[in-house]
Amino acid sequence: MQRRGFVAQVLGGGVVWRAGAGGMGQPRAAAGGPPEWARVPEVVVERPLRGKPHSGKVLAAIQPHADDIPFFAAGTVAKLVGEGYTGHLIRTTNDEKAGSGTVGQTILSNERDNDAVAEALGLEKVFSLEYRNHQMDGIAREEMRERLIFLIRLLKIDTVVCYDPWGVYEENPDHYVTAQVVESACWMAGMEKDYPEHQAAGLEPHSVREKYYFARGPQLVNRIVDISPWINTKVEANLCNKTQGAAGDNGARLRARLAAQKLRLPILGDSDDAANREYIKHFVLDQDSRFLRGVPSDREVGRPYGIEWAEAFHYIRPVESTLDRYIAEQAVPF
Ligand SMILES: [Zn+2]
Repeated sequence: MQRRGFVAQVLGGGVVWRAGAGGMGQPRAAAGGPPEWARVPEVVVERPLRGKPHSGKVLAAIQPHADDIPFFAAGTVAKLVGEGYTGHLIRTTNDEKAGSGTVGQTILSNERDNDAVAEALGLEKVFSLEYRNHQMDGIAREEMRERLIFLIRLLKIDTVVCYDPWGVYEENPDHYVTAQVVESACWMAGMEKDYPEHQAAGLEPHSVREKYYFARGPQLVNRIVDISPWINTKVEANLCNKTQGAAGDNGARLRARLAAQKLRLPILGDSDDAANREYIKHFVLDQDSRFLRGVPSDREVGRPYGIEWAEAFHYIRPVESTLDRYIAEQAVPF
């Protein structure tokens, strides 16, 4: 949306948040300025990494609906899995309101699409919490939080990719409720006194350490991820959403509509499969992105940073203690 473009423009305007080496550093006084945590953050560009630097780590891509991760974060999820993460997919609703056919048919076809998204992104396990679509503002959040804490501990999730709990102007209650409950579950999962029966069942407290939060409106963007090597995987994930959303088979449908008018768009290629892929790449993720996804084009996001395709996030990781380093440098013998 225009709003997010405005924020990205502001954030790209050279205002620097003096983040410490650990990312979200300790607030420091600045001459003539607000404390560090009150300033607009520095934008870090996350580039493709060689090898498998994330080997041994676990991520959860968490989405209310089958098309959320494909639209907004599939490139980053594919990148992180490609760089060594073990990944899982958690969907919080049953998607009963999105798609044609009866309610039962809609639920089943979205479930199949969601499974296909996981496969396209190399995600191993799929959990669907099945809260009713569009009605998550009426759920018992504590109940959902415990389910997420259980999964964080069971799967030993280190990193989550999800909607931003602080993203504003979000109209869909499934989006903001999921985001808020995920945020609280991430730290509470590491507490010993929350749900001690989990420990009796063999699970250990386990905190989520890194978060990639995306939004459909203004948000605090401090990370741009270069997804250029994974753009075709992102297209593949969007191709899976045939039941709902702007991707799926819409390219082939457009090709057929134009053919009935004795017209064709060369950019869509010469087959229905090519039309679906090219439509997603060039229209859903690029030229018509603001209308179809409500966010700027992935090309537009990357352009100020010299990147062909990019995704934007509010990225959070824990503040690391500086005490050990201080002791190593300053401690003296008695
Ligand atoms: Zn959604």
